[in-house]
Amino acid sequence: MIKDNIIRIQAELPKAVQLVGAVKTRTAEEVLEAIEAGLGIIGHNYVQEAERLFNLISQPVKWHMIGHLQSNKAKKAAAIFDMIETVDSLKLSKALGKACTPLNKTMPVLLEINSGEEHQKAGVMPDNAPRLIEKISSLSNVKVMGLMTMGPFTDDPEESRPYFKKTKALFDEIRALNIENTEMSILSMGMSDSYRVAIEEGANMVRIGTKIFGERV
Ligand SMILES: *Cc1c(COP(=O)(O)O)cnc(C)c1O
Repeated sequence: MIKDNIIRIQAELPKAVQLVGAVKTRTAEEVLEAIEAGLGIIGHNYVQEAERLFNLISQPVKWHMIGHLQSNKAKKAAAIFDMIETVDSLKLSKALGKACTPLNKTMPVLLEINSGEEHQKAGVMPDNAPRLIEKISSLSNVKVMGLMTMGPFTDDPEESRPYFKKTKALFDEIRALNIENTEMSILSMGMSDSYRVAIEEGANMVRIGTKIFGERV
C-alpha cells in the first residue's frame, strides 16, 4: 500500500522535483516501508519524535525539519537534520549556526514564507524575506538554499495557487539579488492535495504525507 503509493507518486513527479515524505504520527514500520520503496527524504515536524525515529532507522536517507523550530531545540535539530525548511528568524539561524560549528557542518536552510500573511502563523512576511536572507548570509555554518511555504489552509488546491505564484515570484526576485553565501535553488511548496498545482507554479520540492501513508488518525 505505502510501497505502491511511493512508486506511483515518484513516477508521476517530474525528474527535477524532490519528494519529501511527511511522516508526523507515522510508525517506524510505516516509514521503513516507504524507504524500501525508494523514499529518500524524511520530513518531520517535531524534533523529539524525529530523534526517536532517527535512532531506529539506519538507512542512508536525508532528514528535513518541516515543522516550526524553536531556537532552544537548535542543538538537537543540528545533530539530526540535513535541512531545516522552516527558518523564520535571525535568532534561529544564529542558534543553528552555533550548534553546527562543533559538528563541522553547514546547515542548508529554507526560509519559510508566510505567503498568506496570516499573523497567527509561522513564517516570514514576504516583504521581510530579502532583508532577512541578507542578514543570514553573513553567518557561518548556515546557508540559505531557497524558500518553503504552506499557504493558507484550504480544501481546494486552486485556492493555494496565488500563494504559490507569489512565493515563486519572491524566489526569483531574491535569486536575482545574487546574495553571497546564498543559493536560491530549492522551492518547497505543495502537499498531498496541492502538489500538482505547486509544481505547475514552480515547486521543485513537495512534502507529501497523506497520499503516501493514508489519513492521519
Ligand atoms: C503534514 C505536513 C505536510 C503533508 O501534509 P499532507 O496533507 O498529509 O500531505 C506537508 N508539509 C508540512 C509542513 C506538514 O506539516
